[in-house]
Amino acid sequence: MADRDGVIWYDGKLVPWREANTHVLTHSLHYGLAVFEGIRAYQTPSGTAIFRLKEHTNRLFESAHILNMKIPYSKDEINAACCAAVRENHLQSAYIRPLAFYGSEGMGLRAEGLNTHVFVAAWQWGAYMGEEALAKGIRIRTSSFTRHHVNITMTRAKSSAAYVNSMLALQEALASGADEALLLDPEGYVAEGSGENVFIVKNGVLYTPEVTACLNGITRNTIFVLARERGIEIIEKRITRDEVYIADEAFFTGSAAEVTPIRELDGRQIGQGCRGPITETLQKAYFELVSGKSEAHGEWLTRV
Ligand code: PMP
Repeated sequence: MADRDGVIWYDGKLVPWREANTHVLTHSLHYGLAVFEGIRAYQTPSGTAIFRLKEHTNRLFESAHILNMKIPYSKDEINAACCAAVRENHLQSAYIRPLAFYGSEGMGLRAEGLNTHVFVAAWQWGAYMGEEALAKGIRIRTSSFTRHHVNITMTRAKSSAAYVNSMLALQEALASGADEALLLDPEGYVAEGSGENVFIVKNGVLYTPEVTACLNGITRNTIFVLARERGIEIIEKRITRDEVYIADEAFFTGSAAEVTPIRELDGRQIGQGCRGPITETLQKAYFELVSGKSEAHGEWLTRV
């Protein structure tokens, strides 16, 4: 990833991709305290546009606030940086990664006077789990790793450190031959995937866990809006893994994963073992929205 042409917005300037470096004593590298976002830009009929940029930037600032980190830029500056990262790399569609971290101004947990540094990188990235996953669905496994308790790491913050747990779960799932992990919360209820929110469908109703152990996903919120507009009822509640086994349909959502159907959990087929009809409706609506093919919610698209 480091050795390529292009530019990265780094502390207020566009710098050559290969020169966007930091020192080995960068505080966040040692203790994991950093916050980030994962955003997508899509090709639309009126040019490349970033989907729900404002909401992602708001969450970045909320994550920083929760972790007591001061971002030395305004939201407008970060929004402009995201646009510049896509535009200046001549990307028609992109994955955008803003990240705020502590520098190498001090070391140790008690370090004082740390500066917050921010970069925004953007690159071309296709379907997170491949095109086939979007069409046919994926096989997942309940993880032996528990998702964070709200009082251990702050689950409303999208922090780098939280992803140690995600990586442990994902590595375990992949090693067992599954495509993704399903993590349970500390009480044993369904929380989320390693990088996705989860939904199930039963008797025409959509269910998803409340935002306690899972991230407050922006795609999750988009699905709420799309479902309500189509008269599909949504209920946020505690979900058990056996409810997923007997669901009619299940799917993951995320800016990277978009709307990915789940066809199997722990070797049990879910519903018909393929992308279900409600999943397909919402997935199609999602792709029409992000690619500017639908008239609705133009306010969610920011031209770069
Ligand atoms: N949960 C986790 C753990 C994630 O990493 C993500 C991806 N950011 C999500 C849920 C989905 O969030 P969003 O829809 O905002 O991308």
